[in-house]
Amino acid sequence: MPIFTPGRRWQPPYYPFKKVSLGKRLLATVERSIKGPLFGCRMCGNCLLQETAFICPMECAKGARNGPCGGSTETCYVDRTRPCIWYAIYDRAEKMGRSEKLLEVLPPLDWDKVGTETWGDVWNQVKHVGVKNVCTGLLSRDAANRARVWDSVFQPVRQPVWWSGDSQYHAPKYTEPASELERRLRGGEFVVTAEVAPSLSPNTTKFLGNVESLRDYVTAMNFTDNASAMPRVASWASGVMAIQKHVEPVMQITARDHNRLNIQSDVLGANALGIRNVLCISGDSSREGAVPMARLDILDVDSIQILWMLRRLRDEGKYLDGREIKQLPKYFLGAAASPMASEPRFQAIREHKKINAGAQFMQTNVVYDTDILETWLNELAKRNILDKVYLLIGVMPLKSLKMANRMTQVPGIVLPASILKRMEAAGDGAEEEGIKIALEIIERIRAKQAVSGVHLMTVGWESIIPRIVTEAGLKRVPAELKALA
Ligand code: SF4
Repeated sequence: MPIFTPGRRWQPPYYPFKKVSLGKRLLATVERSIKGPLFGCRMCGNCLLQETAFICPMECAKGARNGPCGGSTETCYVDRTRPCIWYAIYDRAEKMGRSEKLLEVLPPLDWDKVGTETWGDVWNQVKHVGVKNVCTGLLSRDAANRARVWDSVFQPVRQPVWWSGDSQYHAPKYTEPASELERRLRGGEFVVTAEVAPSLSPNTTKFLGNVESLRDYVTAMNFTDNASAMPRVASWASGVMAIQKHVEPVMQITARDHNRLNIQSDVLGANALGIRNVLCISGDSSREGAVPMARLDILDVDSIQILWMLRRLRDEGKYLDGREIKQLPKYFLGAAASPMASEPRFQAIREHKKINAGAQFMQTNVVYDTDILETWLNELAKRNILDKVYLLIGVMPLKSLKMANRMTQVPGIVLPASILKRMEAAGDGAEEEGIKIALEIIERIRAKQAVSGVHLMTVGWESIIPRIVTEAGLKRVPAELKALA
């Protein structure tokens, strides 16, 4: 186990893709033999230790460089034999008073640098700042000056020009709502969105039936992107079919199944076809899905990096490679949030970072415990970010006791014992009891001022949505879908 990283490094270090000079290879060997035992360094070529409480984030089983996934608890859900390294990072950062450093949007790997040393870059930057300036700055009695000099060396090393991540909030640069969903949220309406699973085959009869049956009950429909790591019809294609039925789609895009190139091209293509809402998520681990498993250990870009990249594409008109885009795309960016995963104050840091990166709305994981939801909302309020994002709280009606029991096992979901008891006591009436519980939860969610709507997830029970929406008093006025014109 590395001395300063409270995890166990299972994956071997990276090695360069191309031959580098002997001097660089020697330096890399020295760096690896020191940082390996100390931090579990995998030689990613772009060291982030300064921002991650000196725990190497490349220990993360998914390779997430900006924070934990939605299923995070103290234990990694991809590999239960090791701790969640992001939980450890948050915990240590809090103890060291470095939590705010976790807000900086960190870059994805530069695959041309992977496996090579970072120390050469640090030395070049020291020379750039001036060896004397660095030495005197670091010996200064003024802590702020020391921190400034330190950052003048390390910030340019970890933030290449093509990324330029920071820890600031960047307000969207457009004025008219990009979608009907955004228009309604801006107008203060309590909205309902629903998740609809795309078809399993090119026969879309059932899928389109679901879409049409829900059209008058929700403002927008999310089409999942290979949910549970199982292939289905693509989210963007489902979205285009929904538009043809006059339904506004939310295209979901998982970090798991995409790389930095096709995220940009897919979103631009979807945008050209009329899709105006894009939800950026990590995606369930491939371990949850089909075998043989897709790659488990590395995301080319994580969900926060996707938000950063797409926000810049839209607001600054720049592809990740720096090329300018002639006509700006138009979309409303969303992210997932997990009020019930790990500690609400840690989750709030993660949500804060997503909002800074570009999230304008958030759809949360399923909530059954509204007390924990309240704690999470208070943590967001402390960070002063509630006025920068629209929150749609995830609600999943329980169909049976079996389903309720299964929910207790899902990472990132808390099902209170009182709900489980009610489902047990209901016997044959479990389905009705599940609907009653969902309606009670919606009522409690609606009473919270900071919340802008609910996101219904019914995993194949889409037929219940009209009843829930109607009985909750949330049936919408039919939309004109102006934004799709
Ligand atoms: S962030 Fe990269 S360079 Fe730094 S310790 Fe981890 S793997 Fe090594």
